[in-house]
Amino acid sequence: MIQLTRHISFEEMTDSKSHPELVAQNRIDAESYIDNLRRSADLLEIVRAHFEQPVIVHSGFRNDRLNAAVGGAAKSQHRRGEATDFEILKNSLSAAFEYVRLAVKVYDQVILEPGWIHVSIVAKDNRRQALIRRPDGKYEAVV
Ligand SMILES: [Zn+2]
Repeated sequence: MIQLTRHISFEEMTDSKSHPELVAQNRIDAESYIDNLRRSADLLEIVRAHFEQPVIVHSGFRNDRLNAAVGGAAKSQHRRGEATDFEILKNSLSAAFEYVRLAVKVYDQVILEPGWIHVSIVAKDNRRQALIRRPDGKYEAVV
């Protein structure tokens, strides 16, 4: 195992439960984005430390093939290792969402999705955009 940070490994940030056949190539491609993956893991460590519970990573880096296979947006930040989908053990998604939204100082985007939190690191400026995905699939901004 390769640790990106104390608690977050390269393997969990490049895994896919739904498409295990794509993981090997995904990990090869992820090596070009290791700095972004480390910064993503740093953000997860902040959340983990606050809740004192493990972060469960659903999806981190996705190469184009894996991203397409899971139905990710064509320009998804997952393709550059800038985004992570996660939940926190023993805590609600809304608690994790509110914590990132209000307390994390630097992030690009946080989205409360049905079943996980999507969070991305800063690409250009410190956007700190917070969205909730509604049951109809539309995104609603939280201000
Ligand atoms: Zn995502």
